[in-house]
Amino acid sequence: MEGFHHLLKRQRDFFQSGKTKDISYRIEALTSLGDMIRSNETEIMSALKKDLNKSDFDSYITEMGILLEEIRFTLKHIRDWTQPRKVKTAMTQIGSKSYIYSEPYGIALIISPWNYPLQLAIAPLIGAIAAGNCAVLKPSELTPETSKLMAGLINKTFPEEYVSVVQGDAETTQLLLKEKFDYIFFTGSVTVGKVIMEAAAKHLTPVTLELGGKSPCIVHHDANLKLAAKRIAWGKFINAGQTCVAPDYLYVNKDIKEEFLKTFKESINELYEDIVKNGEFTRIVSERHFNRVTGLLSSGVILHGGNSSKDTLTIEPTILGSVTWADPVMQEEIFGPVLPVLEYDHEAEIIQKINEHPKPLALYIFSESKEFQETILNSISFGGGCINDTVMHLSSPYLPFGGVGESGIGAYHGRGSFDIFSHQKSILKQTTTFDLPFRYPNRKDALKQI
Ligand code: NAD
Repeated sequence: MEGFHHLLKRQRDFFQSGKTKDISYRIEALTSLGDMIRSNETEIMSALKKDLNKSDFDSYITEMGILLEEIRFTLKHIRDWTQPRKVKTAMTQIGSKSYIYSEPYGIALIISPWNYPLQLAIAPLIGAIAAGNCAVLKPSELTPETSKLMAGLINKTFPEEYVSVVQGDAETTQLLLKEKFDYIFFTGSVTVGKVIMEAAAKHLTPVTLELGGKSPCIVHHDANLKLAAKRIAWGKFINAGQTCVAPDYLYVNKDIKEEFLKTFKESINELYEDIVKNGEFTRIVSERHFNRVTGLLSSGVILHGGNSSKDTLTIEPTILGSVTWADPVMQEEIFGPVLPVLEYDHEAEIIQKINEHPKPLALYIFSESKEFQETILNSISFGGGCINDTVMHLSSPYLPFGGVGESGIGAYHGRGSFDIFSHQKSILKQTTTFDLPFRYPNRKDALKQI
């Protein structure tokens, strides 16, 4: 297989021309990116339907809508973000002024997964463009229709030396990783995240790693159970549970467990029964993933759902009860429409158990008690999350989104995206109207004068 040296050379020459640093050029590029999405809505929806059986509604709210909002927000703030930022100057440097300049790294490599194949490739690109970089995108091979469409659209919208899409699998990514990029932004699994970081280390290339893991969802005895049920059912089963921040398992207080589960089943039926019946539920991306997720159904007992079809690669929204930490379903990120339920008596149990495992990407707390909320927030480290909701924190441009520990390194969205694709260059502008003598060593009794 041919390498990517030539592509990188062309991008590097283009970056060196300085064109991408021009703010008007960035604004024009972001505007074109928005137009590209808006004018190809039907084609995008059709590709997502073929790859994942995503409904038009889901395609809009979880892919295109998020991107259009991110572009709008970035365009609104880009002139402000790109200004050198004046900061305070220490007393010892009297006469000088201090600034932070945001400068683009150069060429960014963006590697994305299949679960939100458009959104997770283009959202980082918005940050890369806003910060003035060139970019190479490597979307997932498991959603070929969307990746192919994206490659064609990007190719029509931008010159290859500015933004380019490389299609292919792990082997292609390995070839790309042989080249020296100036920044690598990876979204995907923990296992591959480690491969990426190792490859980046060879060139000392900085990385953002948006990874996954098991995200707990806690339902306390004082929660508004009806609302909790609806918001959990939505966040878990949207995209058939193939969402990095989907609640991976429930921790429900034992006093309200039965009542909650009754309401929860009603909510699942209310939101998804017709969709599943009409064949409009998102499918599992591949047979391998289908076999993996259905394999987890033998953990505990099925309290709801549990049916699946290998022909259509679909699995019904499913609740598993009588699950323990020793069961297979608790050993890996589920990434499918299967939700195990654990119960607890006291919060100390939850805190201890969750802290024994890798730091989650997200955590959700359903409770009316501020004290309980704060206890959990202050006792468990996790990427981010919601109180009395699920998933919604990732759609705010004011909240940097990312993991911690095994769930990731770095955070993006809104200003965060601009910042991670920018080097912060600190500059001290010194006065020439006077020159303080204290710093120089060749004075008599220099130390005594300090
Ligand atoms: P993955 O890690 O298998 O693949 C991601 C990308 O890496 C793909 O483009 C793939 O081609 C490439 N890749 C795969 N193996 C590789 C290798 N050995 N060397 C180099 N590149 C390789 O992830 P996935 O299955 O596409 O996505 C699911 C995972 O992504 C889940 O763990 C999920 O939690 C995580 N995820 C995280 C976020 C987030 O924002 N934190 C968002 C979505 C998904």
